[in-house]
Amino acid sequence: MRVPTALLAAEATWTRSVDVVVLGSGAAGLAAALAARPVRKVLIVTKDTLDAGSTAWAQGGLAAVLDPGDTFAEHVRDTLQAGAGLCEEDAVRQLVNDAPTAVSYLESLGAAFDPGADGSHALTREGGHSHSRIVHSGGDRSGAEIQRTLDINAVNAGVEVLDHAFALDLVMGRSDKRQVAGVRIALLDMNGAVTSVGVVYARAVVIATGGVGQIFASTSNPRAVTGDGHALALRAGLRVRDMEFVQFHPTVLWQGVNALDQQTLISEAVRGEGAVLLDAAGDRIMKGVHPQEDLAPRDVVAIAIHERMSRAVNGVDDHVFLDARPIGERFSERFPFITEACTRAGIDPTKDLIPVSPAAHYSCGGILSNMDGTTEVEGLFAVGEVAYTGVHGANRLASNSLTESLVVGTRVGRSLAWRLPQAVPSAEMAVGDVGLLDESLAVQVRQTMSRHVGVLRTPEGLAHACDTLAAIADKTSQDITPTRASFEATNILTAAVAVAHAAAARKESRGCHRRSDVTTPMDSSLVHLDVSLVSGEISIEEVAR
Ligand SMILES: Cc1cc2nc3c(=O)[nH]c(=O)nc-3n(C[C@H](O)[C@H](O)[C@H](O)COP(=O)(O)OP(=O)(O)OC[C@H]3O[C@@H](n4cnc5c(N)ncnc54)[C@H](O)[C@@H]3O)c2cc1C
Repeated sequence: MRVPTALLAAEATWTRSVDVVVLGSGAAGLAAALAARPVRKVLIVTKDTLDAGSTAWAQGGLAAVLDPGDTFAEHVRDTLQAGAGLCEEDAVRQLVNDAPTAVSYLESLGAAFDPGADGSHALTREGGHSHSRIVHSGGDRSGAEIQRTLDINAVNAGVEVLDHAFALDLVMGRSDKRQVAGVRIALLDMNGAVTSVGVVYARAVVIATGGVGQIFASTSNPRAVTGDGHALALRAGLRVRDMEFVQFHPTVLWQGVNALDQQTLISEAVRGEGAVLLDAAGDRIMKGVHPQEDLAPRDVVAIAIHERMSRAVNGVDDHVFLDARPIGERFSERFPFITEACTRAGIDPTKDLIPVSPAAHYSCGGILSNMDGTTEVEGLFAVGEVAYTGVHGANRLASNSLTESLVVGTRVGRSLAWRLPQAVPSAEMAVGDVGLLDESLAVQVRQTMSRHVGVLRTPEGLAHACDTLAAIADKTSQDITPTRASFEATNILTAAVAVAHAAAARKESRGCHRRSDVTTPMDSSLVHLDVSLVSGEISIEEVAR
């Protein structure tokens, strides 16, 4: 199996030089840009509009210890428990300690979070949390408020934005050590055609391109989340860690067997407010499955739904139901966004059951990094969902990710304000397998991933997925027209290959990686799996904890 080692695009016809270039404009990228900006020339390169990533879609909110009855120790314990043995405890402690500051920082930038009865924050509880500690905004419009706040502040602070600009590949430096010199960019028109290609040279490059949701046909992630940063890092020789741990959200709005696009999330907070999961016979799904019942961790709920669907109760095998009727008339006020989506689908949550199914939601693994955002390459940083920091381990605790994006993004920006890496001249681009995948083949990749690398993985399914992806990879070529769609198709393939091979290599069930043949974690398997590309071939290395 070989995937391209560089995206095919025209020769560069322009160059720019800045101090810091940030790839992506979600919470992580904007936080980094904003914190670096006071003293640095910062350019955000983003392939669509500013708000096209997952951040704007987040519903639940940010996890932080704000209730006097809650403690840092309990937030740490809940996070470690969800992470199933693979969290870096020190990273978790740093996250938890900084989380309340992240909330007050956002407020000082103008974010409005929902107030509680006593005037402090209204706090919700989500799956896996032992306390109410999720700060939210506009009911279920938390991400939109965070995106709005950061957009305005970044632009007002003088961060320059190059939108409809696609980060293709890193430009490495000519240096004794591995160092980055910049990034190759394709400027796009509104239809995704390439209008020109150029190079942005920078002393620091921050990858903040979000997760990999769109490598699956069934996903809560918006269209822009195609694993570009993971693929770009792999092509540059970096390692991505623990990619098999894809969290499947148990409840997206089920919209029929042929739905391929982003699917509306029905936030866990709905269950936090009293909704319960039912099968087609009206029986409770989570009763007796876990002490926290409908608020059990996401992997537990997703697998329970998957199992109930495979029983085909009353002939229904592709969705179950959420009964939110106990929430009553409060529903539309507390969940205005979900209410709109349900109304569009002809469902009234105060009277009807909501059809739901699991879908790919969050990538726990990513570019090997840490809570300071540094990577194996000098001058190159990774923040947000694209990064592996050790916080999430084998499964993310709900609402820890926006907090992580804010905390690590701000740290990286601040450290770049304090000190920039040395400038380095660029090296000649290595000659490799330059190519692209035709956009029409992305659907096959996505369906293969949803069918065979989903909630419950079988050895046969994983082997089939790896073979299918290899056959699709054989179709990459230099005869494909470079467009946003073909760049994304190639990145979807590359990221999917990393996830499928890591899933096939992890011979245990742990966190959100569930196999049918080995149903429990194996203590002897307490390892990380690092994926890299060696001359376009996938390579997996076990790294002991
Ligand atoms: C429906 C939904 C609900 C969620 N709810 C919550 C929640 O309640 N709490 C929580 O903590 N987390 C939640 N999450 C997860 C959370 O939203 C994400 O983990 C977080 O927003 C990631 O932020 P980010 O900045 O890393 O990436 P994103 O916000 O996804 O931003 C990525 C950016 O990179 C850009 N980009 C991508 N590729 C390229 C490229 N090649 N060139 C240039 N630009 C590129 C994108 O256009 C985008 O601007 C939710 C996610 C979804 C999808």
